[in-house]
Amino acid sequence: MNIIPRPQEIKLKETAFSFGAHLDCTLFCDHIDETLLSRLFRGFTHATSRLAVAHGKETTLNAITFGDYHEQVIELSGEVEYAIHITEQGACIRGDNRVSLLHGYYTFLQMIETDSLEEGREQFSVPCGDVKDWSDVDFRGIDLCIFSETPLSFLQKAIRLCAFYKFTHVALNFWGTLRYDAMEELSWEHAYTKEEIRPVIEEARAMGLEIIPMLNHLGHAAQARDRYGKHVVLDQNPKLALLFEEDGWTWCLSNPETHKLLRKMREELMELCGEGEYFSLGFDEAYSFASCPKCRKKNKQELFLHYINGLAEELKEKGRRGIIWGDMFLDKEKWQLPIWATGRKEHGIYTCLDKLSRDLIIADWQYEIKEGIAESTGFFVENGFDTLVSPWDTVENIDVMTNTCIEKKAKGILTTTWDTLPERLWLIGYVAGKAWNSSHYSTELDDIMVKSAEVLRKTRENGYTGYHNAGWKPNEV
Ligand SMILES: [Zn+2]
Repeated sequence: MNIIPRPQEIKLKETAFSFGAHLDCTLFCDHIDETLLSRLFRGFTHATSRLAVAHGKETTLNAITFGDYHEQVIELSGEVEYAIHITEQGACIRGDNRVSLLHGYYTFLQMIETDSLEEGREQFSVPCGDVKDWSDVDFRGIDLCIFSETPLSFLQKAIRLCAFYKFTHVALNFWGTLRYDAMEELSWEHAYTKEEIRPVIEEARAMGLEIIPMLNHLGHAAQARDRYGKHVVLDQNPKLALLFEEDGWTWCLSNPETHKLLRKMREELMELCGEGEYFSLGFDEAYSFASCPKCRKKNKQELFLHYINGLAEELKEKGRRGIIWGDMFLDKEKWQLPIWATGRKEHGIYTCLDKLSRDLIIADWQYEIKEGIAESTGFFVENGFDTLVSPWDTVENIDVMTNTCIEKKAKGILTTTWDTLPERLWLIGYVAGKAWNSSHYSTELDDIMVKSAEVLRKTRENGYTGYHNAGWKPNEV
C-alpha cells in the first residue's frame, strides 16, 4: 500500500471492511462538497461503486462515517490532524478541521483495494485498523507557473495532485498568461481569461487548498524570464516604457502610474484567487532597481522601504501577509555558493533588512545547496522573519531545505517548479512526502511517478480519455 504522503502512524489488521457497488456514508461537516467526495470515490473504485452521501446533524464534528459504523466518533489528541478507524462493519474519519478531514479522506481512498469488478459481484476492501496522522511541516506551499506553453489541463492536473498529496497552498504564477482588466498589454494574445481560470481555482479550494495570488513587484516586471528576452508589455507597446526602469526588467518606483497599475493587478488577482492569508510579491533578481534618471536621484533604501513596507501595510488591512523572495536581502559579497545571493552594494537593498516590516514573510530560495543546512534560512529566522524554505528540482536540494525548515523552526516550505514540472512531476509527490513525514517518505521517484499517474486517472471519474489528454504530457516522446 503506497500512500503519499506516508502516514505517521498506521496499524492494520488481517481483517477488512468490505463493500460492493454501493456504499453509504454520513458527512458531519458543512463545508465539504459532497459531489467531490462522490466523484473521487467513483474514481478510486474504477467507476464501479457509488458513494451515497447523507448529512449528519452535528456539522462541527468534521467527520465522515462509512457503512454500518456504530462506534463512537474518534477523539483526536495532541498533534494528530486526522485519524481513521476501520472495523469490519464500517469506517470513520475525523479531522481537526475541514481540510484535515479531506486529508483523511485522501488517505482512506488510497487504502481501498479491489477484489472483484465482475458485474453483480463487485467487491472492494479496506484493511481494518487505525491511522493517526499529522504533518512535520505545517505550511506546505508550491509555486506553479502558468507559461504560454502551459495547457490549462496540465495546471488542473498539477493542482489536483497537490491537493490530493495534502499541500496547503498553491501560488499561481502567471507569465503574461492572465488577461487583466487593468491593461491589455499585460498579457499575450493567447492569455487565459479569468473565466477560464476560475473553475480550476474553485476545484482547488474545494479540495482544501488556499490559492495564493502571485505578482512580481520589482524585478521580472517583463513577466518573462531573462533567458529569451521577451517582454509582455514593451514588445506590444513601447510607449509604456516609463512604467519600468530603462531595460524594462524592473518596475520604476518613481512613476505613480506604476503603483496605480500594480494596485489594480493586485485587486484583480485577490478577487480571482479567493479568500486567503497571503500574497506572493516577488522581489527577486531586480537587477536594474532604481537605475532610471528619476530613481537614481533618490535615496534608494528609502525608496525601497517606503514601497515594500507600504505594500505590507496595505495587505495587512486586507488580512493578508506578503511573501517576498529573499535573495536580494543576502549580500552577494558575504554569501558564497552554494548559497545564492543577489544583494548588491549599488542597490543597497540588503541593508534594509532591519527596517523591513516583520509582517512580510521571506521565502529563501536556494537551489544549489545539496548537503548540510541552508544557513541563509537561519539568518532570516534569527532576524525575526517568518521564513519559508524554497527548494527546486533535485531530491538532495529538497531534502536539505526541508531539513533546514524543521531544524531552524522556519514557517514552512514554498517549493518552486518553474519550467521543469512537466518533466519532473515526481516533484509534487516527493516534496509532499518529505514535508509531511520527513523521516519516512518515498525516495523512489519512479514509484512516485506511476502513483501520480494512478491518482490523476482516479481523481477524475472516468480518467482522462484520448491520447493527447492522458497522462500529463500530450505526447509520448
Ligand atoms: Zn525609475
